[in-house]
Amino acid sequence: TPMVAIVGRPNVGKSALFNRLAGRTIAIVHDRPGVTRDRLIATCTKAIAPFDIMDTGGIGEKIEDDFYQQVQAEAHLAMDVADLILFVVDGVAGLTPVDLELARILRKTTKPLVLAINKMDSEKRRMHGVDFAKLGFEDSIEVSAAHGVRIDQLVGLLGKRLQLKPAVRSREADRETFIKKQPLKLAIVGRPNAGKSSLVNALAGKQRTIVSDVAGTTRDAIDIPIEHRGRKYQLIDTAGMRRKAKIHDEVETFSSMQATKSIKRADICLLMVDCSNITMQDRKIASIIVEQQKPCILLLNKFDLFHPGMGQKDRVEELMEQAGREFFFMRHAPFVALSAKEGQHLDKVFKAVVQVEEGAANPPGTGVLNRLLQRAIENAPGTTGRSGKSFKLLYATIKKEDKPPRIPVPQIVLFANRADKLQESYLRHLEDVIRTGWPAPGLPFTWEVRGKTR
Ligand code: GDP
Repeated sequence: TPMVAIVGRPNVGKSALFNRLAGRTIAIVHDRPGVTRDRLIATCTKAIAPFDIMDTGGIGEKIEDDFYQQVQAEAHLAMDVADLILFVVDGVAGLTPVDLELARILRKTTKPLVLAINKMDSEKRRMHGVDFAKLGFEDSIEVSAAHGVRIDQLVGLLGKRLQLKPAVRSREADRETFIKKQPLKLAIVGRPNAGKSSLVNALAGKQRTIVSDVAGTTRDAIDIPIEHRGRKYQLIDTAGMRRKAKIHDEVETFSSMQATKSIKRADICLLMVDCSNITMQDRKIASIIVEQQKPCILLLNKFDLFHPGMGQKDRVEELMEQAGREFFFMRHAPFVALSAKEGQHLDKVFKAVVQVEEGAANPPGTGVLNRLLQRAIENAPGTTGRSGKSFKLLYATIKKEDKPPRIPVPQIVLFANRADKLQESYLRHLEDVIRTGWPAPGLPFTWEVRGKTR
């Protein structure tokens, strides 16, 4: 669901407007301690499709003694998390220095912005109106939140700028346009002998010969376009260069540097390991992927050579458990057992790719996210920040980037009573809880905590 952030100085009527847009159908009312989202966020269902509205004044960091700083913080918050900014001014009071300061900040956004001139309930007031045009915003509308004047027109304008499509438009249609975009870049990385070349050969088959001769000596990796079930992919093949490096006897340093470059370029990293022999070097490459915050799939190759002890469990189960221990810091990645040499289970590789893609394309709405987190807070209350002081989570949202990467990695913004760094263990707990509702296979989570700094 798209998000509209309402920004404006106090007393311009933001809450009244928020309530008008939310109507009587405020969906989320959880007046539990610590979470007062009902005031902060609601869904507006008056347009052709629903959108969320957020009152940044209720969420942002509260900086009591610096009014300007407060307003700036709210404006920046809005620009980070919203799809559209609804800037509210008071048509009767006219422009104040704070309005001008807000306008100055908001002009920097590339997101759509709508100016609502509030408290314009009568013709008389209009005549005495201030010239708000000098703020330089393209879309403006005079409304009265208190009297419900021109709210429908405002909703219509918001819907237009959000490019809302009627709800009948299916996920399927969205997915199709998504798929038509350029090929997904898959970097195949792993230590020497893990089986990368074998995989590339198996995936690319004859298609490979088209490009293999082009490989120049200075290239870090070779890009190989392939098709699978009608979809285009681009394999970033890091296997070829290793052989050259070997000559210079710098295998290890070179391969991790080169792997890093390929990892950075990839949409999804396929980390290939020899599951019969997992080593430090495998974990080293895995840690680069984690550092680079890249979507990842773990390919447990040479499954044919994997012979666990005489256990009760079947081989796959045994392998998954073992790999889970070895790559405990990469549990979010789908694990795929395969035999590249024998060309077995290659289809599972693409299935995992599609899973990662679909997870990324369907993040939870803010309502769902906060309901999940509410559960997390209930299960682990009374947490403390690094400073040891008590810490209260108020609200969470997923940051919306202007130009998200092909496979966006969720950046979760937590609003709290204080802007402490949170303990890793607590964030891991929150992550586990979010993943119960949104598994997001292969996607690492990143965190940002906002709140008072003092
Ligand atoms: P790279 O260095 O990562 O490109 O690894 P290669 O693809 O060159 O493979 C290294 C060795 O492992 C070769 O001898 C392959 O035949 C072998 N290999 C690759 N995949 C498998 C597999 O699934 N099972 C077995 N048994 N051997 C494999």
